[in-house]
Amino acid sequence: MMIRSRYFRETPDGRFRCFACARGCVMKDGQVGFCGVRAVKDGTPVLLNYGVFDAVHVDPIEKKPLVHFNPGSSVLSVGTTGCSWACAFCQNYDLSQRRKVEGRYFSPEELVQLAIRAGAEGIAFTYNEPTIYIEYAEDVYRLSRDQGLFLTFVTNGFASEEESRTLSRVLNAATVDLKGNASREFLRKYSAVPDPEPIFRTIKYLHSSGVHVEITDLVVPRVGDSLEEARSVARWIRENLGDEVPLHFLRFHPDYKMNWLPVTPVKTLEDHYRVAKDEGLKYVYIGNVPGHPYEHTYCPSCGRPVIKRYGFDIIEWNLDDEMRCRFCGYRLPIKGKLHVKGFEDRFFSLLY
Ligand code: SF4
Repeated sequence: MMIRSRYFRETPDGRFRCFACARGCVMKDGQVGFCGVRAVKDGTPVLLNYGVFDAVHVDPIEKKPLVHFNPGSSVLSVGTTGCSWACAFCQNYDLSQRRKVEGRYFSPEELVQLAIRAGAEGIAFTYNEPTIYIEYAEDVYRLSRDQGLFLTFVTNGFASEEESRTLSRVLNAATVDLKGNASREFLRKYSAVPDPEPIFRTIKYLHSSGVHVEITDLVVPRVGDSLEEARSVARWIRENLGDEVPLHFLRFHPDYKMNWLPVTPVKTLEDHYRVAKDEGLKYVYIGNVPGHPYEHTYCPSCGRPVIKRYGFDIIEWNLDDEMRCRFCGYRLPIKGKLHVKGFEDRFFSLLY
């Protein structure tokens, strides 16, 4: 569905500048932005994919991944067309790089009702970049907060400053996905990102505004696996956000235009883990390696595993109701509460 966009500003020469991401495309009538879903039509700036979703699932929150926020909860997860980046390794490229809006329309009211009917505790805008359809998330927020649902984005963090203010108001949590250790060269070459600085500005702003933030870093073998860059990321997190923000190093699987690379060796991920721990981060994880011991949460005080996971499932819980370690009493910064339900029921599609 097409709506008039609230995230354009007219330029002195009669064109329109979009500020739904940090790319800042300037368009004249008839042109479409880099993401493929924002355009100027008949002199009006528009959003083309409002509420049209082609992926609608109920996922465990651990899949986002968010592991320090309402553990065990279910999230209605939706994705649509387009992206502000063009990652050559994208695993959802059929959505993100498609330039034709396809899917089923859900009004904000319908989406909230669907989340409630599905037994979800929250809604996640994910699978493709959600900042590019921020108007829809804002409209859902007005309804979802009254129903007690949380809202979360899985995002590249490439937001404009103005948009960051909206995000800080509407989001309860965000997973910000770095790629290739956020190396400037990697992002320019493989993701068409002109400048990574807005990512870090967004993370800092969201965190300082009280949004729960977890950071992932997709470790791409050979071209995006520098330990020195990983050290810089970990140091930046500690110095700017503190030592309690979770950092997940994710295993890369070959996809899209980068099928020529292997999966990330587990040892490379473990080396990244150790570098981040050396830099003083308390909660570092390895993702996409089910069964690895670094999927677990360890108590920073006594070192015992307080939350054991297998993939997206919690298989052991050793925290009390106040999130204190059962072994030593140390309080962990886990927000919300543990949601216990049948995990096998939560992992299904609502579209197909
Ligand atoms: S969201 Fe970003 S990529 Fe899309 S039109 Fe706006 S500035 Fe361009």
